[in-house]
Amino acid sequence: MTPAASRRIGSLAASISGFMDFLTLPHMQRRFGPASCDFVFGNPHEPVPSGYVEALQKALVPQDKNWFAYKLNEPEATSVVAGSLSRQRGRRFTADQIVMTNGTFAGLSIVLNTFVDPGDEVIYISPPWFFYEVLILAAGGVPVRVDADRTTFDLDVEAIASAVSERTRAIIVNSPNNPTGVVYPAATLQQLARVLRAGSDKSGRPIYLFSDEAYNHIVFDGGAYPSPTDYYDQSLLLYTYGKTLLTPGERLGYIAVSPTMPDLPEVLGALFIAQAITGWAFPVASLQHALADIEDLSIDIAHLQGKRDRMLTGLREAGYQVNKPEGTFYLLVRCPWPDDLAFCLALAEQDVFVLPGSTFELPGYCRISLTANDEMIERSMPVFRRLRSRPAPE
Ligand code: PMP
Repeated sequence: MTPAASRRIGSLAASISGFMDFLTLPHMQRRFGPASCDFVFGNPHEPVPSGYVEALQKALVPQDKNWFAYKLNEPEATSVVAGSLSRQRGRRFTADQIVMTNGTFAGLSIVLNTFVDPGDEVIYISPPWFFYEVLILAAGGVPVRVDADRTTFDLDVEAIASAVSERTRAIIVNSPNNPTGVVYPAATLQQLARVLRAGSDKSGRPIYLFSDEAYNHIVFDGGAYPSPTDYYDQSLLLYTYGKTLLTPGERLGYIAVSPTMPDLPEVLGALFIAQAITGWAFPVASLQHALADIEDLSIDIAHLQGKRDRMLTGLREAGYQVNKPEGTFYLLVRCPWPDDLAFCLALAEQDVFVLPGSTFELPGYCRISLTANDEMIERSMPVFRRLRSRPAPE
């Protein structure tokens, strides 16, 4: 590699080093053992939703000679998505506004590669999903971090307004939010839209809203889900099936371009090129064929909510300070020790694996994924109780 290439990759790696370093700790390798209680990621620990395997099996049987040919935004998939979104959102999406992706990793790269010019600023909210910063950097953008309100974890719209500059090209908003579990209320999203409109007017260039809605079907207590895209014209909705179906290894998702997007044909053409050059980011043929049969499947949200309640009550009874998530599958817990990494390693010593907040810009906290099964939750409780009463190491 040339020195310049090494430096470039090195600086990208540095922006996710906290996360990567934690994952590669020897402790973390033990989390795949039979006795472990694995709360680290949104990975499946229970059977896949019923009907999923059959849908994929059916989609693998060729029905014509083009079955496994190169696939683009296939009408059999985009029309299902458009119909489903139109029903959920109460406004009309058409199939040509749906850009198929192999998940939101690719979806974010596509929108960043499409809209961000070198040196453009992209705002993201902290604590963030780990990969926002590095994806912005990889697309030649300048990441601008804005903290969420540290009490409610709602968007701090005033702080966003102060961060908007002449160079702001986009903002990434994630609701329901990983890791806080907050669903941003409609009133906040309306204020955000006003700030983005004012910023666009001032600079004479649109600020795009990338709405990461990976968890938009995972909302608890029958709560409403206001989509950030409902309040702002220059919006792109990014969705992945990896959460609702809990099948993150089967890469399938989409970008829905807001029906109100100005210059729609030009934007769609640009996204199409970005799909191709972002590593042919169209989903594989079989998943596009299967989409009609899996669109309405889901993990059992009531069961997930039960696990949330069990953990929330158990941890609070043990003396932990825990945020009650309105959506997603994460619990944000205040660590009883100032050093979250030390606390997470002490849990790992006893086969309970959680993610330290310092890997997602929130030192002093840890994140628990509720995709663990009931048995893991029950087995972990005595460990959490014991460690709560153990003093922090000197
Ligand atoms: N956005 C958020 C907020 C996420 O939590 C994740 C996955 N953990 C992604 C995007 C990426 O989703 P996928 O792997 O399905 O592309």
